Amino acid sequence: MKFSSLGSGSKGNALLVSASDSTTTTNVMLDCGFGVREMERRLARSGMPPSALSAIIITHEHSDHAGSVFQFAARHDIPVWMSYGTFDALGRKNPDVDVCFCRDGDRLAIGDLQFSAFTVPHDAREPLQFHVTDGDSKFGVLTDVGQITSHLVVELGGCDALMIECNHDVDMLAKSAYPYFLKKRISSVHGHLSNEDAAQFIESLDKARLKTLIGAHLSQQNNCPGLVRDRLETAVSHSGVEIRVACQDDGFNWLEIV
Ligand SMILES: [Zn+2]
Ligand SMILES: [Zn+2]
Repeated sequence: MKFSSLGSGSKGNALLVSASDSTTTTNVMLDCGFGVREMERRLARSGMPPSALSAIIITHEHSDHAGSVFQFAARHDIPVWMSYGTFDALGRKNPDVDVCFCRDGDRLAIGDLQFSAFTVPHDAREPLQFHVTDGDSKFGVLTDVGQITSHLVVELGGCDALMIECNHDVDMLAKSAYPYFLKKRISSVHGHLSNEDAAQFIESLDKARLKTLIGAHLSQQNNCPGLVRDRLETAVSHSGVEIRVACQDDGFNWLEIV
């Protein structure tokens, strides 16, 4: 199993997960948070033609995740998975798109990949995040989450690779020029994880198999990659886990779980 980010942050998100056996390859895109042309440009950069996508899964209705999903899926004839709450909140029913519904606790078998959906506290109608397995390894994704719950510690234990939101540094957010209501929304229990929240979560997690840890969904105003990297290094006790930081423009290139 391998994965690659097409971009990560409040201006747009999309993540590719791919698995192959001797005869088939399954490619799934998690979120479609850029415009149609920009999605196509970023996919081309990753060497992935839209026609090679088996499905798109949408985590929640915020535009940096759902972006152009219906236009993109209709244009390239790709089925889409999302919660009913996300579908309802998006409010755009495109009859040309095959929409499948999922909810907390569901297992989605898509080709050689099995995605598991779990609920997260975030200010959206019915937000979901996912972990995925090809039968050998487990990759977890957790962004757009306001607080850590015991449910998340259980769902994301035992991952071989984990991508986790490190949205903001608490001090940088407090001193920033953001209006008060926005600071309050970001730091609320239905907002976004700080570097410290993410690190404390990692410290509490079953990391026995963890080999790759990626900080993601960084605020461009209220965080910097060096702070994220340092805090995540400490959270894994400098144990040799590979630390990466996903960025808005380039995401990160393909990483293989071996
Ligand atoms: Zn987001
Ligand atoms: Zn969101």
